[in-house]
Amino acid sequence: MNYIEFDKKIKELDTLALLKAKGQFDRIDAITEFNQQKVLSAFIKYKVSESDLGVSTGYGYGDTGRDKLEQITALCMGAEDALIRHTFMSGTHTLTVVLFGILRPSDRVLVLTGRPYDTITGVFGIDEKTDGSLKDFGIEYNQIDLKSDGLPDIKAIKEELKSKKYKMAYIQRSRGYSLRPSLTVDMIGELVSAVREVSKDTVVMVDNCYGEFVETREPCEVGADLVAGSLIKNMGGGIAPTGGYIAGKKKYVEMCANRMSAPGVGREIGATLGVNRELYMGLFAAPHTVGEALKTAVYSAALFSALGYKVSPEYNEYRADIIQSIVLGDSKTLIAFCKGMQSGAPVDSHLTPEPWDMSGYTDKVIMAAGSFTLGASIELSADAPLREPFAVWMQGGLNFHSAKAGVLLALKSMIENNTIKGDKI
Ligand SMILES: *Cc1c(COP(=O)(O)O)cnc(C)c1O
Repeated sequence: MNYIEFDKKIKELDTLALLKAKGQFDRIDAITEFNQQKVLSAFIKYKVSESDLGVSTGYGYGDTGRDKLEQITALCMGAEDALIRHTFMSGTHTLTVVLFGILRPSDRVLVLTGRPYDTITGVFGIDEKTDGSLKDFGIEYNQIDLKSDGLPDIKAIKEELKSKKYKMAYIQRSRGYSLRPSLTVDMIGELVSAVREVSKDTVVMVDNCYGEFVETREPCEVGADLVAGSLIKNMGGGIAPTGGYIAGKKKYVEMCANRMSAPGVGREIGATLGVNRELYMGLFAAPHTVGEALKTAVYSAALFSALGYKVSPEYNEYRADIIQSIVLGDSKTLIAFCKGMQSGAPVDSHLTPEPWDMSGYTDKVIMAAGSFTLGASIELSADAPLREPFAVWMQGGLNFHSAKAGVLLALKSMIENNTIKGDKI
């Protein structure tokens, strides 16, 4: 008996996709096991105890559970030190604390990986001098575009760093919502070496969103000075209800801590209000949850490429983040996909997503998101701007088995809406 019915054709496609994905699943399991032991050994080393999971209020002085979790986070990120707080409101807020923690008026920052993620552009003040942006504070922004193959232009980066003094070099690990490949940790290591070669005092900062635990090493393990990310993506394991983290060299983490609370107060304060338990559980679950998300991505790539859709990455391509894009070709198909995926969500399955105008986007956007945590993209979710090439970007899945049902429901909806043409099905 099946609780969710799929016809014979969908079942055949499912079997085929699973068969193709199998080899990749073995590879993902090996990475999960490695990273799970990395996290578990950090918990053991720091002797996590029940009292660490308690509640602090007020200023939060002496919250040893909070302090211990920061040391564990540092170890998991291969860094000297870390901050992990529910008071970071989003990934963008966390990255903002890093940028303002390190940069001072008249400093320069160079982005090595082309135009950064949408929400960060306002923080730099790239397009306009947003009130309170880095530009507003007199910090000069420059970026080196990616080459036509989507990889960083190391030659141009070195030339730029030789020509002017830069306080920070900024790297985005994930592809975000573009079709460029995500950056491997190996490549981040190459970028770090290139920066050090010409400008040894430049702080190398990595936006690590969507990248944590996808590979067996993290950017600080290949020399990056700082990383930061969101707890409602990979690092929160699908359990943290909100928050962010920063990890890296101790002196830089301390500078960020002064910006996070107040200069001279730094990391000593911050009541955890009972959230420690979820942050500990989330970090503990993170390697496994990331593995489930990767399996969902690989499976989806295999399923939709078999139907002739262009997917990126391919099911058997090396991955450095959890994002999967599928080029569906027209808006009717995108809408059918997102509606089908929403119908398989554990929360809000009865709602129907519609395209809407979203601030910061020129075209309408449709999203499928039926998550326990509002906006959590470590849970199965999909976003699609209604514009060429009519691609959907999907990510997450708290567990592969339920996420797979969501993906198959997306396919079923595409078939029912007659959006799959010709002999594809
Ligand atoms: C999600 C993301 C951000 C911003 O995080 P929010 O939580 O959406 O503010 C920044 N950079 C990258 C690469 C991301 O994926």
